Amino acid sequence: MMISVASGKGGTGKTLVTTNMAASIGGVELLDCDVEEPNSYLFFPEMDERESSDCMVPIPVIDEDRCTRCGRCSDFCAYHALAVFPQKVLLFPELCHGCGGCALLCPEGAISEGSRSIGRIHRGRSGEVRLLWGELFVGEPMATPLIRAVKAEARGDLVLVDSPPGTACPVIEAVRGSDFCLLVTEPTPFGLYDLSIAVQVVRGMDIPCGVVVNRSGIGDRGVYDYCKKESIPILLEIPMKREIAELYSRGVLFTTAMAEWRDKFVLLLERIAEEVESR
Ligand code: SF4
Ligand code: SF4
Repeated sequence: MMISVASGKGGTGKTLVTTNMAASIGGVELLDCDVEEPNSYLFFPEMDERESSDCMVPIPVIDEDRCTRCGRCSDFCAYHALAVFPQKVLLFPELCHGCGGCALLCPEGAISEGSRSIGRIHRGRSGEVRLLWGELFVGEPMATPLIRAVKAEARGDLVLVDSPPGTACPVIEAVRGSDFCLLVTEPTPFGLYDLSIAVQVVRGMDIPCGVVVNRSGIGDRGVYDYCKKESIPILLEIPMKREIAELYSRGVLFTTAMAEWRDKFVLLLERIAEEVESR
């Protein structure tokens, strides 16, 4: 079973939920797909079997001797990654989506396929939790190939995906294929607004969802009323507590210091399994 953990906005507690859930359940793979700022691994400082590799994406390589500067490749490229000048064909690698179309239509066969690295895929193990996370290089605009590569390495029976914030392409890629999406929100008007967008996204992808209310006790009843109206189950509430915030800020899983919470995360998994089975 793959469970993605998402939220419409950053800072709602996705990583808090994902890391503590993984540590409480054990026997899971935790995929940090927030590749622009992965931080799940920081909560597992004692890690074994740590290693990493490059995430390669295809790019065109131009043979300048064969090229006649006809311009068909740059006309075709929807991403404006190619510019043909009388002396040279310029490639802007960060704009290239690696579709291979330019190579297919070049009449001179002057384009072959090369590759370049856009980031690193890291792997490690902490006790019963196997960790995988992507780290996009600074300045790289496309997170989705790296997210796809991280997810392709998942092989456990139970996989938790820590998604990027927002509701754009990287989130879609992180959530895609999951059996259930856990939406973490906070009970404020901001939380409600972003939650409602995230719900539209996962429903559009036909993925069942449930809500974790983080920092409960603050704000108003808007999130609760919305979930009731939309028949979205609230599966867990984590109260606004200074102790939890302090532990998080020190990179400590709060379930290690507040052991009673481990059972609550195990129960959360059971409720998710029930929701998936009832579909
Ligand atoms: S399509 Fe081929 S020949 Fe034409 S400009 Fe591009 S690389 Fe050169
Ligand atoms: S591979 Fe696709 S995206 Fe990249 S330069 Fe060629 S046509 Fe453009």
